[in-house]
Amino acid sequence: MLVRLQSSPSPELRESVLASCRELGLEPVPVGDRPDLLEIRGPLRPDHRSLLEDLTGIAAILDRGDARELALRAPGGADTVVAVGQARFGGGALALIAGPCAVEDQDRLLEIARGVRRAGATCLRGGAFKPRTSPYSFQGLGPEGLELLARARLETGLAVVTEVLDPREIERVGAVCDAFQVGSRSMSNGTLLRELGHQSKPVLLKRGMAATAREFLLAAEYVLAGGNGDVVLCERGVRGFDTVTRNVLDLGTVAWLKRETHLPVIVDPSHAAGDGRLVRALSRAGVAAGADGLILEVHSRPEEARSDGAQAVSVAEFETIVSDVRALCALDGRQLSIAETVRSA
Ligand code: PEP
Ligand code: MN
Repeated sequence: MLVRLQSSPSPELRESVLASCRELGLEPVPVGDRPDLLEIRGPLRPDHRSLLEDLTGIAAILDRGDARELALRAPGGADTVVAVGQARFGGGALALIAGPCAVEDQDRLLEIARGVRRAGATCLRGGAFKPRTSPYSFQGLGPEGLELLARARLETGLAVVTEVLDPREIERVGAVCDAFQVGSRSMSNGTLLRELGHQSKPVLLKRGMAATAREFLLAAEYVLAGGNGDVVLCERGVRGFDTVTRNVLDLGTVAWLKRETHLPVIVDPSHAAGDGRLVRALSRAGVAAGADGLILEVHSRPEEARSDGAQAVSVAEFETIVSDVRALCALDGRQLSIAETVRSA
């Protein structure tokens, strides 16, 4: 690893950096006659980059060498494939997660779940615990919503992806879900992420609305460092200056992530667009940019939805999106996961 020290470091500061490197089990080696550069040798671990970045006296890591965080792809390394029920994300496999923003009632949820399954989704989304911007907005049905999701899972065979907001709810949510969703507002909740690192179910991690790509990967690192290797990253749009869309869908970062990390990356066109009429275009763009799947808000009656109705698409629109995704998969030799029950129907 190559590091740059603060400009014109005093001999004491330089000496203290050298001593700290040695304490970390590393060998700092001078670079020619440059007092501001050091080559750090040794058996580099995933935590070394962050530990060195924190040292007073080190201004920048110029080359991280083999100090590769767990989320990063080794040169030529294969994709991690994450299984959620019958869905496969990564390694050339795509899957679709679809459903309402929030779980609302039994009949509505089942109607949507059956519709999206028939169309080609393998996972059902729907929040029982909703992270709303206003504390006065509908916060979800809570435990009752989890029961409705369990019922929908039983009736349709779809895997359930639902949000967990609080580390104290992990056990309760984990008893029902097939994958934990961590929302944009929780991406920086280290306590929640650490706890999910000790779970055996996959984590769908959404990018914080103002998080850099590196911050996003470091959030995933919290889960991976705890021993849970099944993380699916989700780009859902970042804050921009314009208001015509709810967020700016950052497809450049999707393409970048596909190179930098071995983890699967999916796209949420619904929260990016904030407008159901734009969701098809963003879905196509997400898959074309290399996403390993999509998470979409689908509602049987978007005009009656209790949250995010404006960005929901109907089941019929979802069907169109599924056929678009199939066509795009065929173009680059990738495979869309289909529920067994649908395939044999
Ligand atoms: C959601 O997917 O239910 C949600 C609240 O999205 P985000 O966390 O991306 O805002
Ligand atoms: Mn929503």
